[in-house]
Amino acid sequence: MTLLNTILDYNEQFVEEKAYEQYRTTKFPDKRLVILTCMDTRLVELLPKSMNIKNGDVKIVKNAGAILTHPFGSIMRSLLVAVYELQADEVIVIGHHDCGMSAIDSHKMVDKMKERGISEDTLGTLNYSGIDLHDWLKGFDSVQESVAHSVDMIKNHPLMDKKTPVHGLVIDPATGKLDLVVDGY
Ligand SMILES: [Zn+2]
Repeated sequence: MTLLNTILDYNEQFVEEKAYEQYRTTKFPDKRLVILTCMDTRLVELLPKSMNIKNGDVKIVKNAGAILTHPFGSIMRSLLVAVYELQADEVIVIGHHDCGMSAIDSHKMVDKMKERGISEDTLGTLNYSGIDLHDWLKGFDSVQESVAHSVDMIKNHPLMDKKTPVHGLVIDPATGKLDLVVDGY
C-alpha cells in the first residue's frame, strides 16, 4: 500500500469514529497569536507542547528555517492576514538549533538537482532571467541573527500594524527549551 493510501484509509476511520470532535474549534486563535517557525519534523508536536499550545490557540506559519526573505512573499502575506483578518495581536518568530537551513550548501543542492535530471539548459535559463539560485537557496550562519533579522523585517514592514509586538525565540529541537532573542514589548 502506498503512503497516500495508508493515510486515506486511516482518515476514513478517523472521521467515521468522530475522532475529530476533541479538535473542534474556530479559525480565530484563542491566544491571539501567530507563530512563524520551521518545518522541521522534530517540532511538529514538540513546539506546541513545549509552549502549552493546543488546537485553536494560534496560527502557525511554517517554512524551511523560519526565514522571512521576501517582504511581499506569501509568508509576510500570511502574517498580515493573521493580524488584520484573524485576530492575531502578537507575532513570534521561532528558529531552532541544528536547523537544516543553517547547513544548506546551495552548490551541493544544485548538484543534486542535476543528478535528478534538471538540465544545465534550465539552470542557464534561470540564470539569464536574473534568478540567482545560490542567493535564493542560501540559509543562515547564526539562527539568532536569522530570527532577529526576520523580526526586524516584520516589525518594519510598511503594512504591519505598528502596535503589534513581534518577538523572536530560538527553540532546542531536542528538549523544547526556548531562548529569548527579541522581546517585542
Ligand atoms: Zn529548521
